[in-house]
Amino acid sequence: MEQNQRRFSIWYFVAAFLVLLALENFLLGAITENLTYNEFKGLLKAGKIVEVTLTDKIITGRLRQEGLEGLLPKEKLSEIQRFGSGEQRFVVVRVDDPQLVPELEAAKVKFAGRLENTWVSTLLSWVLPALIFVGIWMFFMKRMGAASGLVSLGKSKAKVYMEKQTGVTFGDVAGIDEARSELMEIVDFLKTPDRYKRLGGKIPKGVLLAGAPGTGKTLLAKAVAGEAGVPFFSMSGSEFVEMFVGMGAARVRDLFAQAQQKAPCIIFIDELDALGKARGINPIGGHDEREQTLNQLLVEMDGFEANKGVIIMAATNRPEILDPALLRPGRFDRQVVLDRPDLKGREKILQVHTKNVSVAPDVNLAEIAARTPGFVGADLANLVNEAALRAARRGSERVNMNDFDEATERIVAGLERKSRVMNPLEKETVAYHEAGHALVAESRPNADRVSKVSIIPRGVAALGYTLQTPTEDRYLMRRAELLDRIDVMLGGRVAEEIVFGDISTGAQNDLQRATDLARHMVTQYGMSETLGLVTFEEPRTNPFLNVAGTAAGREYSEKTAQTIDDEIRAIVRDARERARDTLTKRRTALDALAKVLLEKEVIDRQGLDALLAQHPA
Ligand code: ADP
Ligand code: ZN
Repeated sequence: MEQNQRRFSIWYFVAAFLVLLALENFLLGAITENLTYNEFKGLLKAGKIVEVTLTDKIITGRLRQEGLEGLLPKEKLSEIQRFGSGEQRFVVVRVDDPQLVPELEAAKVKFAGRLENTWVSTLLSWVLPALIFVGIWMFFMKRMGAASGLVSLGKSKAKVYMEKQTGVTFGDVAGIDEARSELMEIVDFLKTPDRYKRLGGKIPKGVLLAGAPGTGKTLLAKAVAGEAGVPFFSMSGSEFVEMFVGMGAARVRDLFAQAQQKAPCIIFIDELDALGKARGINPIGGHDEREQTLNQLLVEMDGFEANKGVIIMAATNRPEILDPALLRPGRFDRQVVLDRPDLKGREKILQVHTKNVSVAPDVNLAEIAARTPGFVGADLANLVNEAALRAARRGSERVNMNDFDEATERIVAGLERKSRVMNPLEKETVAYHEAGHALVAESRPNADRVSKVSIIPRGVAALGYTLQTPTEDRYLMRRAELLDRIDVMLGGRVAEEIVFGDISTGAQNDLQRATDLARHMVTQYGMSETLGLVTFEEPRTNPFLNVAGTAAGREYSEKTAQTIDDEIRAIVRDARERARDTLTKRRTALDALAKVLLEKEVIDRQGLDALLAQHPA
């Protein structure tokens, strides 16, 4: 649609250009000389000129056509005589020649001066094209305006969304109680700013909400506004940056001006990272527009007093890349982390979202929560929605447990894109890779059980997946469990090695995760025998809190670093050997599983049980 429109407008440009060209030709054509000045002088001397009219720039007149031979070049002669005999009009561009008038007098030519009709020619040569251009421009702006809301450039009709009342309360937010209680203070302040001012309480200007997408950052910010009953201004960081140069900064100014009039209120900037990326991280070089906008934001934040009653809340899922300038005191100096909800939290979120859904008595929210580790609020909202849709499709009034099961599976596995075609070798590689993961997992006492293996690609990156369902959320893990987990991660790659004698790029992510886990074991959990019970790194759950550089220094020697590397390598190497051992011993099972996957693309728990019973360890 947009594409079409653009092409359409370009045709208008081309058409207008052609019109102008024709117009110019016409205007110039009207005054094209058909004699040169010295030809004219020659004719004048020969007495062929009858009369002339002089203006500032041109000489027009009539000449006799008889006896011109020899006075003009051949082509010109035939050109002039083409129109028959008698007198003929001519046009000459005038040259600064003081002799002209005396010579005209000498030749007894009737001559007269004429004032050039200046306004007509000005109109034709200047105003008209200008008008046409303005017309085209206006046409364009109107079109663009309709498409993107850019009506007036100067005034920056910023896309600020203002909600007088968000209608969201803390009752709508569940499972992130810590973050919620941290924001209670802000609600209090917004409700009674005067009391805070009297008491001299220090209120943050900016609050940064950091958390994975869908953890409820926007929801929480709206809830703060809703609880306090203040207006909610929102804008997205990426919107600032897409604009023309200078627009972003103008919008920021606008936003703050509007908000200050409505104080107390909340300004919410989503995707702060789009705008507040640390300067210099982008290798291509500075993004001027982004930097300008960021600077303007900093200026505005510094510009108003903290107790004015405007609180700026911003959300990001990548706090570690933010420009440290944003996190300085007086800016986003309060940071609230939104974790993925735990088992209880998920149950509460499910309760919130099923409030207005009629669920069958067999539905057990606690059980659904147990099956959805890693889900964030948005996933759970989506899950309830999906389950309700399934129930509706069945023609049922109530959502039952089966609807929830199917919806869970669907969301867990992402959209199963059956249509995506892999070539046969790729497919075989993926089948053996996933079979390797699954078989190692099944051979380890401490690994989570496999509930499903699939080679249907999901999402963009994963070509297949092995779904293991943990029976519970885990907060503590023993060394043996972690080692088993690494074995499973390497199982896919090892299977490829054994079967094809080669490995593919598909294993890269597994290797990364296995190495990370091994590193944690050595450096954080003190699980290495050589290095003993020491930790070497602060757990960096909030990397942005020390973005200013405290984390940069390593607190151990080069030799220790070497030992750590050796230990990690040893853990991964041993895990690989164990996985190789397992898969070599169970090669028949591996082949059988890969074969089933190639045929059916998916195998579930029952299928797996049957297959493993045929090929016991
Ligand atoms: P974010 O801004 O972190 O990406 P949103 O606040 O936009 O996430 O969340 C999207 C939707 O997910 C919300 O509108 C809400 O329906 C649901 N949701 C997310 N977190 C929660 C939560 N903690 N409690 C209840 N619903 C939630
Ligand atoms: Zn893998």
